[in-house]
Amino acid sequence: MKPDLKGMTTAEIEQFVKGMGEHAYRGRQIAQWIYAHGAPDFERMSSLPKALRERCSREARIGNLETLTTIATPTGDVRKFLFRLEDRETIETVLLALEHSRTVCLSSQVGCAVGCLFCATGAIGLKRNLTAGEIIDQFIKVQASLKPGDRITNAVFMGMGEPLLNPANVMTAISLLTSKEGPAFSPRRITISTCGIVPAIYTLAAAPVRPELAISIIAPDEAKRGELFPQARLYPLDKVIEAARFYARAVKRPVSFEYVLLKGINDSHSDARRLGELVGKVPCKINAILYNRLPDKRFQPCDENHALQFLEWIRPFCRMATLRRSKGGEISAACGQLRAGYARTD
Ligand code: SF4
Repeated sequence: MKPDLKGMTTAEIEQFVKGMGEHAYRGRQIAQWIYAHGAPDFERMSSLPKALRERCSREARIGNLETLTTIATPTGDVRKFLFRLEDRETIETVLLALEHSRTVCLSSQVGCAVGCLFCATGAIGLKRNLTAGEIIDQFIKVQASLKPGDRITNAVFMGMGEPLLNPANVMTAISLLTSKEGPAFSPRRITISTCGIVPAIYTLAAAPVRPELAISIIAPDEAKRGELFPQARLYPLDKVIEAARFYARAVKRPVSFEYVLLKGINDSHSDARRLGELVGKVPCKINAILYNRLPDKRFQPCDENHALQFLEWIRPFCRMATLRRSKGGEISAACGQLRAGYARTD
């Protein structure tokens, strides 16, 4: 198969065109067409000579996700995309459009091996890692769906998959997001959300581009966490907290701890106190999240008043504690739900 230039860095595309006897700057032009302008093929690259466009088409390709469907909330603030990959697997991407921001929530894998019991993606199991091209193309396709002049402002790896179990391709995608031939994002506008893959957190702390880090705590004691998160034994809480502290020191910024509130499971006063004691020594923010109920109804969300009370219990330990209200519950916006629904009706 011809090499796919989408997912290659600018330096790799320069190498590719130099191999065809062209100047390196043609490679930079191609990278800009793909990553900044979203060109889906060589034909659109009008600043390249026709002969070069034709030669590129013969010798390379530009992979494209196929948009199977999109659904939006009635207010339009949450839009979900279901994309088909070349091997006919499907992934989900979410756009959260608030007054002053446009955040894209990217998938990093087809399915997920981690298997958190409260997650629709976990039930799928891992099919495969996404390539860097498939990851960056979610951003490109969502950007192309916006009105002219409207730009994505933030990217978060909180979609399908555990990004730190596909670290090489996720880091390449991040380097494309921060590249000047692409959207030139600051790393502070990119967040990796992980359930706590400890060795990969240390690797990320030494990476050339270090995004914001959000760690999902799931439950503040090992017994409960082990029930909800099958890999808890591999990455015990004290090691996760140590890695979080190391990352915060390395990047000189707080990390975020995500905490999905499950009614009657992890939302008691003693859970809040344990959580506060656990994370209190790390420079951090806590985002409590109202759970998006899955069709199996195994877990229930707690009501908003209780969630606000939970935050009050935490504040003596961590002043930066906020509630992330569930957005898009009516369109199955929790990761894996649209894919699962589409599979049922396809
Ligand atoms: S919550 Fe994240 S890590 Fe857990 S199964 Fe779902 S996608 Fe995987």
